[in-house]
Amino acid sequence: KAGLDKTRKNIMGGVDAVLGGFTQIDEDLFEELEEALIMADMGVQTTMSIVENLRKRVKREHATDPSLIKGMLADEITTILSDGVQEEESLPNPSVILVIGVNGVGKTTTIGKLASRYKSEGRTVLLAAADTFRAAAIDQLEVWGQRSGIEVIKQEENSDPAAVVFDAVHAAKNQKSDLLICDTAGRLHNKKNLMEELRKIGKVIEREHPNAHKEVYLVLDATTGQNALQQAKLFQEVADITGIILTKLDGTAKGGIVVAIKSELQIPVRYIGVGESINDLQKFDAREFAKALFG
Ligand code: GDP
Repeated sequence: KAGLDKTRKNIMGGVDAVLGGFTQIDEDLFEELEEALIMADMGVQTTMSIVENLRKRVKREHATDPSLIKGMLADEITTILSDGVQEEESLPNPSVILVIGVNGVGKTTTIGKLASRYKSEGRTVLLAAADTFRAAAIDQLEVWGQRSGIEVIKQEENSDPAAVVFDAVHAAKNQKSDLLICDTAGRLHNKKNLMEELRKIGKVIEREHPNAHKEVYLVLDATTGQNALQQAKLFQEVADITGIILTKLDGTAKGGIVVAIKSELQIPVRYIGVGESINDLQKFDAREFAKALFG
């Protein structure tokens, strides 16, 4: 998976450098390994628990060769990423997906990629421009819609987001659309307003489209590392997040954040963004990701 090359090099580069510097496994090695994992944004808590498990296993297996550590690390990371995660079934028709996240994380781009992906599966898709706070957000969503021939339901800037969603849900029902993807504003600095806005939107969807399956995807920017984790924690307080989409994994040394998110938040990562173009969105598969990391 080409998009993950950089992620692999960035995480494993540090680990390889550590392992290459030792001829046998000792406490110094574990300490340097710890540092390398934290540098890759694996998170302190997660790193500590990974390294502790490695220590135990090394002892149990009487391992002495540093090159063995890599396989053990791969096992640990695979376990964390796949623990308790059910392979997401394909979304049922009809479904409504709310996409949340702060500006700049790649929310609009991700919605464009998702819409195109679902359309290529043969589904009918509608988009709702319910981030009404910025005119640019509405325009940008329209550009993505045009790219894949998908209609965008919108109103004027500053209109009520729940009203946009109301229109969109009715359009989706009239047109018998399989999927409705709603862009929303993510102004975290006003948490109370955001919570109220999302609650109102959720109520409209529940009332107007009771039979639709619902998802709430949070978009996070991997290049922001631990900040992404903090953002996720704040969004968890205002919305019932069902999945995470992690963008910009192609351009970061902080790919370990995938592991931190899974181990600290217990929210499954559903998709990863690995570039700026329409096809640069991959379904996230824990085992495959771990395999890609360790080559
Ligand atoms: P929004 O403000 O959250 O809607 O963010 P945008 O969708 O406008 O994206 C912000 C910037 O991030 C744009 O320049 C995108 O091209 C870029 N971007 C989004 N996703 C990815 C990704 O997966 N990889 C890379 N390299 N860039 C991305």
